[in-house]
Amino acid sequence: MKLICLDDDPRMEPALRRFARQLGHEVQFHTASATFKAQIKRQAPDLVLLDLSLGQESGIDIIAWLAEAQVQVPIVLLSGQGDDLLDTARRIATASGILVLGAVSKGQLVRDLPPLLAERSGSAQPRLIRPAAAPHLTSDELDRYIREGRIEPYFQPIVSAADRQLRGAEVLARLRLPSGQILGAPAFIPLAEAAGLILPLTAALFTRIITLASQLEPLHLEFLAVNLSAATLEQQPTIALVRSLIEGLAGRCHVRVELTETARIADSQPVRELAAQVSLLGASLAVDDFGTGYSSIRALTELPFDTLKVDLSFVAEMFDSAKAMKMLIAIIALGHGLGLKVVAEGVETEAQRRVLIEHGADLLQGYLFGRPMNILEFVQTQGAARGAADQAA
Ligand code: C2E
Ligand code: CA
Ligand code: CA
Repeated sequence: MKLICLDDDPRMEPALRRFARQLGHEVQFHTASATFKAQIKRQAPDLVLLDLSLGQESGIDIIAWLAEAQVQVPIVLLSGQGDDLLDTARRIATASGILVLGAVSKGQLVRDLPPLLAERSGSAQPRLIRPAAAPHLTSDELDRYIREGRIEPYFQPIVSAADRQLRGAEVLARLRLPSGQILGAPAFIPLAEAAGLILPLTAALFTRIITLASQLEPLHLEFLAVNLSAATLEQQPTIALVRSLIEGLAGRCHVRVELTETARIADSQPVRELAAQVSLLGASLAVDDFGTGYSSIRALTELPFDTLKVDLSFVAEMFDSAKAMKMLIAIIALGHGLGLKVVAEGVETEAQRRVLIEHGADLLQGYLFGRPMNILEFVQTQGAARGAADQAA
């Protein structure tokens, strides 16, 4: 494999050459960006090692140049100025479409760089997997589909962090097209919100949940979590919808209402009233996607939340970004400090689960425990898991 390194500090060269030799890689070392660029244009390497502070031009300029020149080469970022800067640079590069294999603090070069180079030589070129394009949907079609009963609840397990036992589920809306194709929420929820169809959609979804509720009984769920769009919170019928869901579940399990975009709604009187009513009806209230720009700490102090869902980006990034990890730990502590249950979503790996348990997350949700499933699959897989656990006990 051919590596090209750009670093204005020539003391880097011997260390880099040593690592590369051990792994059988070839290295070109540049201290000036002009020769570096010329070389890249002549022949693209397999990997670029890029220092962020370069004297004249900075590593950020080089990232912009690589993106502009559409050089399709993965990079490893280096910096002597700490993890925070590396983290921001990694985000800049990724957002410009550059594949960043890692970010290495020069203080940890000996520990962190060789594994990155070794990993690279063994692995195939990463492929970009494009999701199948969602068919374009008009608001008239969506309106018709809602009335035809094509909105389906999918159920994603939520387990207790300590023992992986099933505790509840989040209901995620899906749209079953006449062709049989199932559309994910991002393909129609924003349209429903924009076209004023989110209330009828939510009503259709809740009705369907109530119809299916008896099938969930063997699972002994503690709660079902549903999402309410910010757009519906100030509308009068919403509270009646929540009440109908609570009554429709008839004590089979609790209802948890997840609110997102709390930054926009925190100081709205109708939203306060809704939140208070929901709590009085005995439902629990969760702040969703906490930690994104759409959620607010203000809302936590003003509304009667009992549950905090950490935004899944913190879980996804915990091992790539020291800051994301620190923030995740701080958010869990903040939630507990306020007496809230903390749910971490987007948990995909055992390693993530271990960190979350260590820092005291109460409930976990993510592909590690199950994807959102239709009712049949949900009852089958989770019932089987429960049976196995009961037998083991
Ligand atoms: P959300 O409420 O934050 O839901 C979590 C999303 O993360 C879901 O996407 C879920 O499928 C996905 N997810 C779960 N586990 C993992 C994981 O391990 N890794 C990754 N990468 N993703 C995971 P989905 O179902 O596409 O829903 C997207 C958003 O659409 C939801 O975000 C929610 O804001 C909205 N939505 C879904 N159903 C409804 C609904 O019935 N009403 C309203 N108002 N919004 C809904
Ligand atoms: Ca949610
Ligand atoms: Ca969320």
